[in-house]
Order: sequence, then C-alpha cells, then structure tokens
Amino acid sequence: MQEEERKKVKKVCNIKFTVNSSCPCGSGNKYKNCCQAFHKGKLPKTALELMKSRYCAFSLNIPKYIIKTTHENNQDYTKDTPTWIKDIQNFTNSCEFKKLEILEFIDGKNQAFVSFKATIISENRDCSFSEKSKFIKKNDKWFYLSGLFL
Ligand SMILES: [Zn+2]
Repeated sequence: MQEEERKKVKKVCNIKFTVNSSCPCGSGNKYKNCCQAFHKGKLPKTALELMKSRYCAFSLNIPKYIIKTTHENNQDYTKDTPTWIKDIQNFTNSCEFKKLEILEFIDGKNQAFVSFKATIISENRDCSFSEKSKFIKKNDKWFYLSGLFL
C-alpha cells in the first residue's frame, strides 16, 4: 500500500496538481470547488455530475471512487477489491487524461445517459475514445452501469 501511495504522490507531483488546480473534468473551476467534494463523499445530484467526477477520479488516480460508483451489474464489477484497484491503477498510471468533452446528456428519473469524448494519451499514443454511458439510480444514488463505444 505504501508503494501505491508513493506512486500516487509521484504522479500528482509530475503534473503539479494541487487542490487549487483547475478540475480535470473541464468545468473551469478549481478542483477544491468542484469534484473534490464528490471524492470526499458528497453525492452527485445528476448522472452528469457523477460522470464528470468519475473521469476526474480516473485522471487523479482515485480507484476507490470508481469502485464506489460502479453498479454491481457492470461487467467489471467484482468483490475482489484489491485486484480491481490494481486494474484501475494499471490503467490510470499508463494514461494521461487530457480532456473531457460532454456530447449529450439525457436525464431521467432512475436512468440517464451521458455521451462524452475523452482525450487520452498513453505512452505517446492517442487512446482517445467516445462513449455513451448508462447510469442507474438506486436508493437515491447514481451508479455507472455500462458504456457503448460511439
Ligand atoms: Zn470537476
């Protein structure tokens, strides 16, 4: 765990990220006034807020937030949390999350969709992709269920 913590700090240092940096979700607000609240436990009111805060958690390497907000019917869902954390970290450590663009948001009472484009560079390769994500509301909380590549 210490090793993982060090990696996390190193990565954050590399990009000189602080709570006063602009939030990776692209809102234009400082991280401390944006997605940090969700990462600290505030519940997103909409699937769009959840989607942005999840992108932000990938960008800042916060696997626990990704896990907490993934629906149990998602194909990556597993009760083996340590392995799941490692998988997420392998992904986030090898990627630079450059930009998030929201293409469409279809809100609903218990189900919502967000289409987005994520600009991602991995080892000098462009790994950007567009996805239409499906979100489900359960017990007043939004969860990420699944995604379709666009
Ligand atoms: Zn944000």
